[in-house]
Amino acid sequence: MPPTKKPNIDLIFDKAKCIICAGCVGICPDMALDFYGLEWTLDSAKCSACTLCVRACPVGALKLEKQ
Ligand code: SF4
Ligand code: SF4
Repeated sequence: MPPTKKPNIDLIFDKAKCIICAGCVGICPDMALDFYGLEWTLDSAKCSACTLCVRACPVGALKLEKQ
């Protein structure tokens, strides 16, 4: 996955944990997240690694990691 707008930080998605609540999609200020059908998608070029989606996810399916 290409890097986020912040250098050396990636948003990691754990599909096995995701309950498709769409909370992360609604909270993202950069509109970097979406669902196509039931497929969670990230546009890394838009993500500013703000952490809002990571904190909003009720099941811990998202995390930011240094490369
Ligand atoms: S870290 Fe922030 S900018 Fe990146 S996808 Fe999550 S809410 Fe959007
Ligand atoms: S907030 Fe978490 S559980 Fe909800 S859609 Fe996003 S990744 Fe999946």
